[in-house]
Amino acid sequence: MSAPSATTHRAAWTPVDLPSGDQPFVRARGATFESTDPATGEVVARVRASEPADVDDAVTAARAAMRGRWRDDGALRGRVLYRYAQALRENADRLAELLTREQGKKLAEARIEVLGAANHAEYYAGQARAIHGRAMALGPNVHGVTLREPVGVVAVITPWNWPLTLLTRSLAPALAAGNAVVVKPASLTPAITIAALEPLAADPELPEGVLACVVGSGGVVGDALVRHPGVDMIAFTGESSTGVDVMKHAAEGLKKVSLELGGKSPNIVFADAPMDKALDGAAAAAFSSTGQICTAGSRLILEREIADEFLTRLAERVEALRVGDGLDPSTDIAPVVSRGQQRAILDYIELGRREGEVVAGGGELAGEAYESGCFVPPTVVSGLAPDSRIVQEEIFGPVLAVQVFDDDDEAIELANCTRFGLAAGLWTSSLQRAWRLGREIEAGTVWINTYNRFYSELEVGGFKESGLGRQQGVVGLEEFTDVKSLNFDGNPTLW
Ligand code: NDP
Repeated sequence: MSAPSATTHRAAWTPVDLPSGDQPFVRARGATFESTDPATGEVVARVRASEPADVDDAVTAARAAMRGRWRDDGALRGRVLYRYAQALRENADRLAELLTREQGKKLAEARIEVLGAANHAEYYAGQARAIHGRAMALGPNVHGVTLREPVGVVAVITPWNWPLTLLTRSLAPALAAGNAVVVKPASLTPAITIAALEPLAADPELPEGVLACVVGSGGVVGDALVRHPGVDMIAFTGESSTGVDVMKHAAEGLKKVSLELGGKSPNIVFADAPMDKALDGAAAAAFSSTGQICTAGSRLILEREIADEFLTRLAERVEALRVGDGLDPSTDIAPVVSRGQQRAILDYIELGRREGEVVAGGGELAGEAYESGCFVPPTVVSGLAPDSRIVQEEIFGPVLAVQVFDDDDEAIELANCTRFGLAAGLWTSSLQRAWRLGREIEAGTVWINTYNRFYSELEVGGFKESGLGRQQGVVGLEEFTDVKSLNFDGNPTLW
């Protein structure tokens, strides 16, 4: 594994104090906490946390906003979201740098993320004007009409790994459908979330109260939001165990939930796949975003016939990856988000040595450049039993588990052997096999001869313990609506 270059690509950074005077949409009057740069440990932002009273203020204002024209004016909502998309694009470079500084990811990936967030806003800007119900004849002179109405006040709770795309893929459809939204970002990424919300909050046509942000610990601020009687729906993205807690607490008020949770996604390579493309795909699936993607292809499942050659070539690629600062353009693998994540992932690598064989990475990252940051070597572990922890548990870092299969049925069995069902990859030149496995694999998304490709118009979501509901696409909009039936009887007598 090659060492990172010197840190001359870094300009000095002055920590920002948030919320600033022109960010009244951030409701926060509590104690201050800091977010830090995972590559250097420097303070990125000092952020005033919200208190339960701030949550209450935000929800009360949101409920009041639901009595205004926002809920009934799709054209207005479309204009606001379209301008938001434009603002994200215009500010892409500035937002990408802040995203890298606070979350750690590579600058090029951060730019892709900002533009992905803009895509979601733009797509749902169009959808805001295309929310339809149905009309039907129910009998002589009796008619039924269904309307899709906004759910009401939606709490959007986001994780730190893709804090902007995961924000806008809930926020944009929620707003497009006419809801008011209170956002609660992850405590590791408050500054980038506030910066990304700022142009939306400043839109002159956005009614007062339709958007607010509360910040601070999930156990306090997030919990207060989930339990607040004025919140009608919770759109949560995060770990499966947190999702279970959110659902339990939401059940107390019979609130609607959308849950986008963890994954341990299989990436299956058949001997008839184009090997170079599959190698690129396997490496990108496992190590993009330093493995911190919910859909990461963290389980590589190889057909025995090609397993040795594939693994040897993959290991060579992994050993050549440069681990370093996300702001350094030569970096392949940026730091993980925090010391806590770093320690947890390094523990899993040690476990991998006991449960299997480390065939790439896994070593010490020695050198001054690594001392102050949360760096982890990309690591490949093979020879694993299906019930080993490295195969079963979400590591959320650059650790790839490798298994081998002999026929299609065994590939399906291995693919489906965890409690998760978020995504899967399939590399084959057989159309017949692609269809069969595409249907048999228990996952909300199956990529065929590609991986981790996302489109605002294509639904995603989890089977099994990876989630409930769908995001993106038309279904992702409908999640944020309730169906109302109007029944008209034009007859002169009741019976
Ligand atoms: P967490 O579940 O720890 O946190 C997610 C969000 O929930 C944070 O804002 C957190 O706040 C908040 N939170 C924590 N506890 C509570 C609570 N009791 N009530 C309300 N809110 C709470 O996830 P991570 O941030 O660690 O994100 C990584 C996880 O997210 C991985 O499991 C990953 O697979 C999953 N994920 C799933 C995606 C999908 O589409 N299915 C997409 C991306 C990630 P705080 O930060 O203050 O703790």
